[in-house]
Amino acid sequence: MLLFKFNKEKEPEVVMETPQNTSHIVFGIHDNLLECSHCGKVFLPKIPAKIDDFVAECNKFVAQHENCKPLMKLREHRGNLAESMATVIEIPPTLEALKTVINNELSVFGVPEITDNMIRIEPYGFDKRINWNTHIVMIAGYGVYGYIDGPLQETSC
Ligand SMILES: [Zn+2]
Repeated sequence: MLLFKFNKEKEPEVVMETPQNTSHIVFGIHDNLLECSHCGKVFLPKIPAKIDDFVAECNKFVAQHENCKPLMKLREHRGNLAESMATVIEIPPTLEALKTVINNELSVFGVPEITDNMIRIEPYGFDKRINWNTHIVMIAGYGVYGYIDGPLQETSC
């Protein structure tokens, strides 16, 4: 739920408070954009609008993104950490997203399609150098593909 407070000039200067579990959805006072800091999607409510409509529109966006998980980082296995970090990309923290990336990368080299049960993720320790709760990504018949900065999640937005 959102709480709004309009100032006297009826400018869309809005004070919004969200409960703890939606603290990743923020309202930019200056650009009037709602933004989900986990998936990066933004929503521009129509202004001017009736306050009820405005709140309803915003609440809809919040409901859609309430359970969004933050993006995870993925780096490919390389000779050293610096080279590996140069390959970092951010993707949804799901097996589906990971599989898509792996297949896109490996199909170039003629590697047959990787399926869910060929991918194994295991905790690999906390890496203080990069502050990653590192998990290793291994592929059956291929070896170590790379590393992610935390465990996979069940769903994403
Ligand atoms: Zn989101």
